[in-house]
Amino acid sequence: MPFILAAKHDDIQDSVIRVKTGQGELAIGEGSCTMIAGPCAVESREAYLEIALLLMETGVNLLRGGAFKPRTSPYSFSGLGLEGLKILAEAREITGLPVVTEVLDPRDLDNVACYSDLVQVGSRNMQNFTLLKEVGRCSRPVILKRGLASTIEEWLLAAEYILNAGNDQVILCERGIRTFEQMTRNTIDIGAVALIKELSHLPVLVDPSHATGRRSLVAPVARAAIAAGADGLMIEVHQRPDEALSDGAQSLTPQGFAVLARDIGRLACLSGKEFTAN
Ligand code: PEP
Ligand code: MN
Repeated sequence: MPFILAAKHDDIQDSVIRVKTGQGELAIGEGSCTMIAGPCAVESREAYLEIALLLMETGVNLLRGGAFKPRTSPYSFSGLGLEGLKILAEAREITGLPVVTEVLDPRDLDNVACYSDLVQVGSRNMQNFTLLKEVGRCSRPVILKRGLASTIEEWLLAAEYILNAGNDQVILCERGIRTFEQMTRNTIDIGAVALIKELSHLPVLVDPSHATGRRSLVAPVARAAIAAGADGLMIEVHQRPDEALSDGAQSLTPQGFAVLARDIGRLACLSGKEFTAN
């Protein structure tokens, strides 16, 4: 295998990434089921604090929200930037829940790492080697999403860049890949989840929102992900999906998410995983 630090060995244990929370500590990795939820983007202070409190009540472990958004069109809403990061930090203060947000540009990394608990490298940047080396030098855990059209080997080698630069806190996230299929936004690769668990000691999450692009498919794909061995889920939730500035079609309502979270709790239990609310 061309990856070394990411590879599973008999003599090393599966990685568990520990994150401080207002209540204690969150362990991400083998044996647990981490629920990450939040809107695609931080749209305003009021809206974000509202959804953060609603999600806290559902037992979510970690909040998400983009402040720097990679958008296909330069005319689409691209996030609130630094202001968005400050809103995320305020939500963490109020809820005690850790927050994750994407970094697009190495020049923003210090701010992203300062205001959030985990740093996300998005699909479009999975092979941005400069960014990978930079997040490899930072002290925050990194969620590395699979590239839009990346092989599993390329994805693990991207993780290797971060590990090789000195950051051993890497969490993988399968979010679907581009195929000829047009009816779903991407094609979820459930087999990749099981294979990553065989090949690597790194935790692997699944994002059924970007994987499908359709609200109705989020719950079934989330259940499939846990059944295949995923260590958790990242799910987009918006209090008014029809008014969302990005990805409304794939966003659950807080009520829909609460139902899914209960189901996932039961499924995690059946799969021998611990699902600890908050
Ligand atoms: C996101 O999680 O906000 C996102 C943009 O996802 P991806 O990089 O998987 O497209
Ligand atoms: Mn999104």
